Amino acid sequence: MSSQQEPQLDQKPQSPSEMQHLSTRLQHHPYQPPAGFGAVEPGVHHASTVIFPDVATMRARDWRSKAGYTYGLHGTPTTFILEERLAVLDGGRHCVLCPSGLSAIALVDLTLLKQGDTVLLPGNVYGPSRELAERFLGAWGIQHQIYEATCTPEELAKLITPQTKLLWLEAPGSVTMEMPDLRGLIAVARQHGILTAIDATWAAGIALQPFDLGVDVVMQALTKYQSGGADLLMGSVTTRDDALHERLLLTHMRLGLGVGADDVARVLRGLHTLPLRYAAQDASARRIALWMQDQPQVAQVLHPALPGSPGHAHWQRDCTAAAGLFSVVFDARYTAAQVDAFVDALQLFKIGYSWGGPVSLAVPYDVQAMRPAGRWPHQGGLVRLAIGLEDPQDLIDDLRQAMQQMF
Ligand SMILES: *Cc1c(COP(=O)(O)O)cnc(C)c1O
Repeated sequence: MSSQQEPQLDQKPQSPSEMQHLSTRLQHHPYQPPAGFGAVEPGVHHASTVIFPDVATMRARDWRSKAGYTYGLHGTPTTFILEERLAVLDGGRHCVLCPSGLSAIALVDLTLLKQGDTVLLPGNVYGPSRELAERFLGAWGIQHQIYEATCTPEELAKLITPQTKLLWLEAPGSVTMEMPDLRGLIAVARQHGILTAIDATWAAGIALQPFDLGVDVVMQALTKYQSGGADLLMGSVTTRDDALHERLLLTHMRLGLGVGADDVARVLRGLHTLPLRYAAQDASARRIALWMQDQPQVAQVLHPALPGSPGHAHWQRDCTAAAGLFSVVFDARYTAAQVDAFVDALQLFKIGYSWGGPVSLAVPYDVQAMRPAGRWPHQGGLVRLAIGLEDPQDLIDDLRQAMQQMF
């Protein structure tokens, strides 16, 4: 009798919850899987609510610390893992995730600037960042000043006033591709006690180590290379400084900049292949850029790794690789309509914004309209090409057939 009473191996333990109604039992099922599940990918944790064992633990928990969990907005195992890996990628100590690259830019601005301050933006800055400064920060009494991206440290120093609190850098500009003198500009900012933030989306943690050049804040649009899939939006802000990170975290909490667990898992997956994809797209882009440079319809190819491209010497000094992104300026004899028709005639290159994804993209830009006050030496139309993971020879053939049709 006694042996029959011993529970069978496959028998579920009896529990008082079996007396409860089905709807309650479905919410409070007692089964817990064994700990120690080993898989290559970490689990994807979806949570707004985080459950505390007791009130004292809840009260004692510090939402800013990665030692525990408080609420979905402040982090889950999934978001903590991505933040830690991105901090390594960027060469920083702390990272915070944002729902898009643009919201990461806004997080930096809203943390580091207050009424009466001035922020310096490069003339080739990511357009929506300038829009944010003009339409939003301006209305709150925060001024912005545009500097020429290719300016010298001395030229930048002349723009600095006691109100200047933040210098944004972008390396290179993501349409006109100028590589600034990062070392020189950062040195000037540091001499004046001004914080520096870099939009390092192009370098993606691979081509450039901005913290080693002395920047305070590294912002990434993970939407591009870190994701690699063209299927999500996310941004990050990385720092090496504990106090700066804490300030960013407070703004992040106050603005409620949460990210979705499934998107975080997609970026984690993308990170495995990031160096391989970056290298492949870099190699393809350079091959295609060199081919384009030889075409008689082309006035100039703007790619920081090509001699003659603006800031090429800065690229050589500071970078170890280049993104698969470059722009082509066509000869001035072609009209804007002809340049648009060239883009329409492309078959493998799709028409769309963004870059760092699997499919190559082309976008014509009207640079004169984008930069009314800037130095821009070209008359011809500009097309930005983002090189995907197709074979570069097929992409060259596509460009050739579109040029033959249109020019
Ligand atoms: C795409 C991009 C952003 C913005 O990222 P989103 O995730 O689209 O908001 C910011 N800076 C640069 C250089 C970008 O290319």
